[in-house]
Amino acid sequence: MRLQVPIAKEGVEATVRAVAKTKEEPGAELVEVDPPTPGPGEVLVRVAAASICGTDIHIYNWDEWARSRIRVPQILGHEHAGYIEEVGPEVHHFHPGDYVTAETHIYCGQCYLCHTGAAHICRNLEILGVDRDGTFAEYLVVPESVLWKNDPALPPKVATVMEPFGNSVHVVMRADVPAKTVAITGDGPTGLLAAGVARAAGAASIWLSGLLDARLEMAEALGAHATINAAHDDPVEVVRRGTDGLGADVVLEMSGSPVAIEQALEMVRPGGRIVAFGIPSRPLTLNMADVVFKEVQVLGVVGRRIFSTWHEAARFLPHVDVARVVTDTYPLDEWQLGMERAVRREAVKVVLYPGGQ
Ligand SMILES: [Zn+2]
Ligand SMILES: [Zn+2]
Repeated sequence: MRLQVPIAKEGVEATVRAVAKTKEEPGAELVEVDPPTPGPGEVLVRVAAASICGTDIHIYNWDEWARSRIRVPQILGHEHAGYIEEVGPEVHHFHPGDYVTAETHIYCGQCYLCHTGAAHICRNLEILGVDRDGTFAEYLVVPESVLWKNDPALPPKVATVMEPFGNSVHVVMRADVPAKTVAITGDGPTGLLAAGVARAAGAASIWLSGLLDARLEMAEALGAHATINAAHDDPVEVVRRGTDGLGADVVLEMSGSPVAIEQALEMVRPGGRIVAFGIPSRPLTLNMADVVFKEVQVLGVVGRRIFSTWHEAARFLPHVDVARVVTDTYPLDEWQLGMERAVRREAVKVVLYPGGQ
């Protein structure tokens, strides 16, 4: 469903507050909209917590990718946790009051990829907050098919981060890290959490390179054995020195930065694997001769396997301090403060509370 009424009308009762992109330009605004109604197979979720992700920042900044993909008006956000308020017709497995979060990749269930265990890259994929109205709102409609029941003991500010945590889990599981040397490029939340997952999964050694000392400290607290501030030291040199000049068995590229992507190709050992997760904001060139001569596998990874990654994430949760990446929490009214802190990289993970703190 789409945003119906972008601006609050005086006297209209029972409107829903939401953060939406209403114009094709940088920024977003707090608006009041008609409450969404769940259709067949859908539920209405009262959002308890929603978190800001890189995708939201791309949309907020209105970069090249956002301009090509987003149609306004559109409510932002995909990560969230909340309580089912109402179920639509033909909902069979969930009930009002259930504490849920959602897989944000809404799949068709009928295409070749859905039929063969790859629903997260469904041919008819719709992403919450990208292709349909998102989670930075008091209420949200989502299909039952993507819901995940949370452990009631999990606070909403952690439950909302299960989606990006699932990204980190998916990346690490595809990388096959036990007893391997692992280099991670990128100090965003998914990179930091990947360090924790790789440690829990039995990586032999983990380096994480980034640009902010506070985040590098966080990476070590989460499980990285060593960190590299790429503003001062060359991550390629450090990783090579630590591996007898060989290079890392596995590199997890979690930043999307062109410089880091080049470094990933230099720091991976011959015959090693690069898992590419970070999304560059524009197309870039890659030295394919290096890929060939080093026999490097470059594996793109997106989203989470539905729902096997969610089960893995639930099992990793006791072993990774996910709450540590949540540095900022705000009521929905103060969303812009949180967004600006995220844009300036002062906050790691920002959680918004649409129902108040
Ligand atoms: Zn996300
Ligand atoms: Zn499909």
